[in-house]
Amino acid sequence: MGQLFPGAIIFLGPPGSGKGTQADTFADSRDGYYHFDTGRELNVIFEDPKNRDNAAIQMRHEQLRRGELVDPDWVTSVVCEGIRRVANSGKGVIFSGSPRTLQEARAVVPLLMDVYGRDSLVVVKLNVNPETSIHRNTSRRVCVRCARPLLSTTETRDMAFCPVCGGELAVRKDDTEEIMKNRLDQYRRRTEPIYEYYQTMGIPIFDIDGERSPEEIHLDISDTIDKYSR
Ligand SMILES: [Zn+2]
Repeated sequence: MGQLFPGAIIFLGPPGSGKGTQADTFADSRDGYYHFDTGRELNVIFEDPKNRDNAAIQMRHEQLRRGELVDPDWVTSVVCEGIRRVANSGKGVIFSGSPRTLQEARAVVPLLMDVYGRDSLVVVKLNVNPETSIHRNTSRRVCVRCARPLLSTTETRDMAFCPVCGGELAVRKDDTEEIMKNRLDQYRRRTEPIYEYYQTMGIPIFDIDGERSPEEIHLDISDTIDKYSR
């Protein structure tokens, strides 16, 4: 087997753009990729019984629950450690929640280029309007068994069970409208400026229309990546 290309894919977009779902779907559809969902990885740390009495970690958990930005230095160290772990296992890495700040990007991007090769990094940008973003998030559910989020679309609205594992679906308690607006605001102020950095670094950015059904979006992404790898 040749070297996986691209070795690293960063999914970007506002909360509710479906980037987590698309990253999962893409990783499931191909061999050799690991979806490093930063939110999921952080939750593993937060839920670890070892960390129950760790005040610093519990404070970060609270910040995350309120939709605030969690200590960027700490998140960056968790992400960089994750990249080395995934690369050492011989897999490509997919991100959907990182980098979230310019500071994080400046640490993560050079590491990805170092580990996977300068030209082996691409960005997939999912575009949705703010109304879609807020609506999808305040009505989204999460599988209680495998923790996959299920965005509210015409296809998924009436589903009672997780399409992947059959687990029960529950509304996320941290997805209230106020917290959502907070996250959207954070996204605009802290995450959007990263685009310019990607451009400066010469990283290809693929713009994808995120207002369509998850299946259509997946096919578009898959096609786009294939055309680029050829
Ligand atoms: Zn599930």
